[in-house]
Formats: sequence, C-alpha cells, structure tokens
Amino acid sequence: MAKRIRRAAVLGSGVMGAGIAAHLANVGIPTLLLDIVPRELTKEEEAKGWTLEHKQVRNRLVNQALERLLKQKPAPLMSKDNIALIETGNFEDDFHRLAEVDWIIEAVVEKLEVKKEVFARVDEVRTPGTIVSSNTSGISIAAMAEGRSEDFQKHFLGTHFFNPPRYLKLLEIIPTEHTDPAVVAYMKSFGEDVLGKGVVLAKDTPNFIANRIGTYGLLVTVREMMQGGYSVGEVDSVTGPLIGRPKSATFRTLDVVGLDTFVHVANNVYENVEGEEKEAFRVPELMKTMLDNGWLGSKSGQGFFLKQ
Ligand code: NAD
Repeated sequence: MAKRIRRAAVLGSGVMGAGIAAHLANVGIPTLLLDIVPRELTKEEEAKGWTLEHKQVRNRLVNQALERLLKQKPAPLMSKDNIALIETGNFEDDFHRLAEVDWIIEAVVEKLEVKKEVFARVDEVRTPGTIVSSNTSGISIAAMAEGRSEDFQKHFLGTHFFNPPRYLKLLEIIPTEHTDPAVVAYMKSFGEDVLGKGVVLAKDTPNFIANRIGTYGLLVTVREMMQGGYSVGEVDSVTGPLIGRPKSATFRTLDVVGLDTFVHVANNVYENVEGEEKEAFRVPELMKTMLDNGWLGSKSGQGFFLKQ
C-alpha cells in the first residue's frame, strides 16, 4: 500500500524543482529540496571572481534556489513565510534522508541516463510504499523505471507539472503498466484536492499530451518566423497580447521554459516517432546556435529577449 503524503522531497532545484517545492510548501507540505554539488562555475561567477570552492560552500549554506524563490516574479510562494517549509540539502550529504519522506519527485535534467542513475540511488534509500515520480517533460516513464525493484515500480509514475507550478493548473499523471492502480487513484485525488490541480491521465508516449502539442506549436511558429522574415517581437505580439495571451506568447514562453530543456523535449519526439510527424519536431538551426552560445533564456540571463 502507498503511504499518505505528509512529507515530500524534490530532487533537482532548478526552474521546476524549486517551483514544485514552493507549491508543496504553499499547501503546507514540508519538503526537502536536494541538488548536486556544483562542479563548475558559470561565466558570470568567474567574472565575479568566485572560486569553485566558494560556490560550493555558498550553495550549501545560502542555497541559490531559495534566494530565487524569494525574488522571482510572479511569486512562486503564496507567502514568503512558506519558505520555512522547504529544507535544502545536497545529493552527497542528504540523500539518505529520502527514507523519511512519503513522496519523492525527480526534477533533474531532461536526460534519461541521468534520471535512471538518480532512480537507482533512490531505490536503495527509499522505504517501501514511498511514492516516486518524475517531472519529465516527455521521456518514457517505463524506461526510467527499468531495472528497479518491484516495490519501486508499483509506486512509480510520471507527475508532470507545468511552469510555473503555482500558477499553471494542469498536472499530467502518467502511470506505467506496473504502477499500482491504487497509487494512480491516490495521486489523482491528491493532485486535485490537495495541490489544487486539474489532473489528466496520460499514456506513456513521447511528450505525453500537452507537450506533444505545445512543442509542435512552438516549433512551427519559430519556422514560420524565419521563413516569413518576421521579428521575435512581432511574432510574440501576434501570438500573445493581440490574441489575449498577455504573458505566454511564443518567445517569452521559450525563455521561461529554458532553451536547453525545450531542445531536449523536442528531440525526444524527433528521436522516438517515425513517419510524417517526425520532421515537424526537428529543432531549427537558430535554436541550436543559441544553445551553443549559452542563450538559454531567463536562467542564463539571455534568450530570445535580451533583457530578462
Ligand atoms: P533546470 O536545468 O532548471 O534544472 C535541472 C537541475 O538538475 C539543476 O538544478 C541541476 O543542478 C540538476 N542536475 C544536473 N545534472 C544532474 C545530475 N547528474 N544529477 C542530479 N541532478 C542534476 O531544469 P528544469 O527546467 O527545472 O527541468 C527539470 C525537469 O522538469 C526536466 O525533466 C524537465 O524536462 C522538466 N520540466 C521542465 C519544465 C520547464 O518549463 N522548464 C516544465 C515541465 C517539466
């Protein structure tokens, strides 16, 4: 039987992990937020004269994810006091503490090998009955669970939040053939009643439902812009404010999502489908060049819009 969720842990304190932890804190669930210890400096940090050691110490003590949650707009926390429900730590010192929680949500980089490694470690420390889920944007849930214990597989599923988690109501729940139906039913009611989400059950197909359609729409728009010779501002305006979507126009969405994550998500369909649909998911050269330059959007300070 699955545990009732009273305490949770989020693995990965990036754009989504921190946002999910904030949403859990907003509904009163104490949450442990863990990330890896950084192994390199960003260009900005180098320019500030930081050393790697300095960054690692700073990351443990101050935790940049919490700083971001307090500064970010729109605010991920309903009240700044909710931050007290988020406890931070790192994969090296605190992973064993996952044994204390009832739900472990993985939100690390969108790479199957990395996620599989993380779940192998989770399988060693979790207590039986702990629900484990992935926030993947579209990687196969079944592939991530390959090789894991029977109890893990029974309690494992996809819980796909949308960005920003406090504000976007959709939660896709993706079971595998091994997920216990009682766990699926529990997570559906937990998602609706406790997290306040609109829950949709999705099949374990590349990018599930919303991202299969959404990625397609964004890629078509970028290609149309290049072929038509339009500017980013023009396209953003006609796919945004002028049609009543003030905050979620094409390029602002891409900047908020993060170009690296978007490219992984688009490639996931490109690599896993055949036939007519495949070409529509090919990532345009423009986006690849931006990625090579580190223009990832809000998280790197530069994306389609120059000032974030
Ligand atoms: P992000 O790049 O902001 O954060 C990823 C985190 O993973 C970082 O904090 C990083 O330190 C950590 N990480 C990197 N390598 C690792 C490793 N080897 N082991 C453990 N942790 C590692 O990414 P994100 O946007 O928060 O995405 C996280 C997950 O959520 C991905 O699966 C992504 O597809 C999914 N997702 C993203 C969005 C979005 O809009 N960005 C929306 C829905 C779902």
